[in-house]
Amino acid sequence: MIVLKTKRELAAMRDAGRIAARALRIAGEAVEPGVSTWEIDRIARRYIEEQGAIPTFLGYGGFPASACISVNNVVVHGIPSKDVIVREGDIVSIDIGATYEGFVGDNAFTFPCGKVSAEAEALMKATQESLYEGIKAAQAGNRIGDIGSAVQRYVEARGYSVVRTFVGHGVGAKMHEDPSVPNYGTPGRGVRLLQGMTIAIEPMINAGVSGVKTLSDGWTTVTADGKLSAHFEHSIAITSDGPVILTLPD
Ligand code: MG
Repeated sequence: MIVLKTKRELAAMRDAGRIAARALRIAGEAVEPGVSTWEIDRIARRYIEEQGAIPTFLGYGGFPASACISVNNVVVHGIPSKDVIVREGDIVSIDIGATYEGFVGDNAFTFPCGKVSAEAEALMKATQESLYEGIKAAQAGNRIGDIGSAVQRYVEARGYSVVRTFVGHGVGAKMHEDPSVPNYGTPGRGVRLLQGMTIAIEPMINAGVSGVKTLSDGWTTVTADGKLSAHFEHSIAITSDGPVILTLPD
């Protein structure tokens, strides 16, 4: 069931989104050679809790941390750990949700640690750009397939591949609401986008093949070929004035 939000609810979602965005920014600032992903998670969690918000991911489906931190060939759902030390040249995808006054903000960003390879830089840039291509397509009257095809067209033209095992989603009082928002699709197909819909668009883009596999911890998902993967996400609202990003820090 797709839940349309009122103006008041959209304002509340913007508050939750701001906290999630600031937590993400603070987590990104902590990315430096030698830091553990456990430490980055601790910093993000502390910030969210200081705002009177709840780290949405903590305990979600049994997830043991507040942020998913996915380094290099890890696509999504990396579990923060004292044993995972970030090194110069790594790319670090951080996905953070905050629940505030009953609404969820969900966002992700891939941060470079120091100087990264030209290949990594190009992948991050294309993935971030593809998110904005998807957002641009999120106009009332368009359909879900318009978003996915915009993302897909952008990254495939650059030789990258779209992860299909995981998709974006409606977001609101719950982190995962209807509809699903794939990062691939056919223009003009799928659920029609209506004013008041709030969705998380989150391209997960691989440098190599699109295939992924989940490790025995049940969470950590890596690229099938061991190549790099990047992940960017915003929660947005469909409005009569076009798409509005809810997960902005300022
Ligand atoms: Mg999400």
